[in-house]
Amino acid sequence: MILGAHLGIAEGLPEAVREARKIDADALQIFSKSPQMWTGPPIAPAAAEAFRAALREERIRATAVHHGYLINLGSPKPDSLEKSRSVFVEEIQRAELLGVDGLIFHPGAHLGSGVDAGLRTIAESLRGAIEAVPDGRVRLLLENAAGQGTALCSSFEELATVLAAVDAPERLGVTLDACHLFAAGFDFRTPEGYGSLVDRIDGTIGRAMVRAFHLNDAKAELGSHLDRHENIGKGQIGLDGFRHLVRDPGWAELPGYLETPLDEDGYARYAQDLVTLRSLLEPVGGSTEKPSARRRERRASSTVK
Ligand SMILES: [Zn+2]
Ligand SMILES: [Zn+2]
Repeated sequence: MILGAHLGIAEGLPEAVREARKIDADALQIFSKSPQMWTGPPIAPAAAEAFRAALREERIRATAVHHGYLINLGSPKPDSLEKSRSVFVEEIQRAELLGVDGLIFHPGAHLGSGVDAGLRTIAESLRGAIEAVPDGRVRLLLENAAGQGTALCSSFEELATVLAAVDAPERLGVTLDACHLFAAGFDFRTPEGYGSLVDRIDGTIGRAMVRAFHLNDAKAELGSHLDRHENIGKGQIGLDGFRHLVRDPGWAELPGYLETPLDEDGYARYAQDLVTLRSLLEPVGGSTEKPSARRRERRASSTVK
């Protein structure tokens, strides 16, 4: 897995890329504007170009924009739905300008209209958004929900229903959030549990639809439906669960973004979580060489040519 994190852009777009490299992140997720606001200032083409140049210079291998929280593509309220749909198209256009791989979004919440109506509304929203940006290259990635309140798509069956209804597999994909999976009742801490999770993926959305991960440990217990992130290895999932995810060769070329809690030390906790995750990639009981030393060596050799 390509390991990275969600970083803020308050200091600027290229600065977020430099920060990512400083903590040894190979993948970067950002918001393209404040997530608590409907809209943000337009992205100047020069700023977008500086961002893309920084990504190349710092060898960031995977990128995503996470959408703003006010959007609900499954809303039964006409005004809110209309606003959500138009702002979602803006989110896609901003992500296109930034040239990221994916736009990660929460499918939506039905707010009492029922699961079927909610899923139908989400599918219609996505069809409209895809038509509005016909030549879009950024993949739209539905994020699995923890299942809090009326949030939809905490199950693979619901994700599969939306994907089938939109019927545009070349434009869509799924981001799996480890904390949300666990909160929704998927226990992947044992090899057997992880195996049955993968079987469930294969039997519903198909593993090819999985395009990214959010690597968050969970504060709350299995099946709690609570969306409470914790630092890697400090929560209820623990290191065994993350070992299964990050070592799976099927996900080797997919990004995993940290959205774990930070403190007054800034991104130091991310750096620590990345070290923890990389230690899980090492062969069990294998080489005694320090992973950091090997990494430096690999990077040095790749810069020589
Ligand atoms: Zn999210
Ligand atoms: Zn979450």
